Amino acid sequence: MNDADYDISYIINVLGENENEGITPVTPPIYQTSNFYFKNVAQFRDAITNEKENLVYSRGNNPTINLLCRKLAALEGADEALVFGSGMAAISAAILSCVKTGDHIVCVQNPYTWTNTLLNTNILPKFGVNATMVNGCSTSDVIAAIRPETTVIYLESPNSWTFEQQDLSAIAVFAKDHGITTIIDNSYSTPLFQQPVKLGIDLVVHTASKYLGGHSDVVAGVCCGSKELIGRLFANEFLTLGGILSPFNAWLVLRGMRTLPVRMEHVSRATNQIFTWLKTQHKITRIYYPFDPENAQFELSQKQMKKGQGLFTVEIDSSAEKIEEFCNSLTYWRMAVSWGGFESLIIPSCTFVKPGLYSTLSSRLIRFSVGLESADVLIRDIDNNMHLL
Ligand SMILES: *Cc1c(COP(=O)(O)O)cnc(C)c1O
Repeated sequence: MNDADYDISYIINVLGENENEGITPVTPPIYQTSNFYFKNVAQFRDAITNEKENLVYSRGNNPTINLLCRKLAALEGADEALVFGSGMAAISAAILSCVKTGDHIVCVQNPYTWTNTLLNTNILPKFGVNATMVNGCSTSDVIAAIRPETTVIYLESPNSWTFEQQDLSAIAVFAKDHGITTIIDNSYSTPLFQQPVKLGIDLVVHTASKYLGGHSDVVAGVCCGSKELIGRLFANEFLTLGGILSPFNAWLVLRGMRTLPVRMEHVSRATNQIFTWLKTQHKITRIYYPFDPENAQFELSQKQMKKGQGLFTVEIDSSAEKIEEFCNSLTYWRMAVSWGGFESLIIPSCTFVKPGLYSTLSSRLIRFSVGLESADVLIRDIDNNMHLL
């Protein structure tokens, strides 16, 4: 066992557990309470003047939620973390904490759909905050888009469809020199496979609805960063917008995280086996996967990520109609949005195209999310239906 493995096990199973209880359950209690009482005015006064450090009301602090925050911050190698009712609540609060009217954001092309909506459609433009979308594969393109009023560089490395990456340390160095805050959506890798704080990124956001929770039974999000940035976020967006996670859902994420290392290990290994098999199939014309040795960014993947996880997209040499039939016929690969749960999932890109308008390349992609089944079973399921393509 190496040091990294030891740390992860310690964080997930020991850190923060049972610290203030006379009894010793192996799983933490759920503090299903909205508020906390005080025995005298002096204590009450002290607590409400520093809500960050005290248990006053569960929109601010709650022990079950705080235990989760502590573990997530430790896994990311960040000072502190805040958890939210969804990944999008975390992303929205993180971005809002860094902008005011007139500010400008540089964001990578093709971020998560709702991040794009936040930046470009119905929220930030209303308040006079504009975004420029750039090809993040090129650090010089990112730098060229910076304006005097740029306050945020928003990254998603890799994204969850085509997996383009950014050179995180190069961008972090530039941003620090120019007083710009960097934010990354690190959902793809989890803190086990990529730790952007160590590469100089300021704020790390995740959906916890995917691998962190891991069982497709909870929607949650997290934002990690320095004491200063998270302190500001807590006092402003967190308490004011109120997009908190419930104690029960925090407990579900805590439970899901107990198995995060073994799930990630399985998914990474199984994906590698499935990927290697798909490479031999003549109907598959391209595979988007950061750890494909033929991927143009393979070196960068090895530099800043430990391993590949279970999401990849394939391009198929067939008609969208046949792809539709193929997808309808699979047994273990179920069709659904989201990813990172125990169940293997697919999304055919033709789902987003009206029938009859099929034709372009974009109708011939399928995104796969490898779950906890054995790779052999998942390969057999694809193989059994390959003749439909
Ligand atoms: C799902 C997802 C989100 C949003 O998370 P929710 O918990 O669904 O709000 C953000 N980023 C990525 C990459 C995602 O896949």
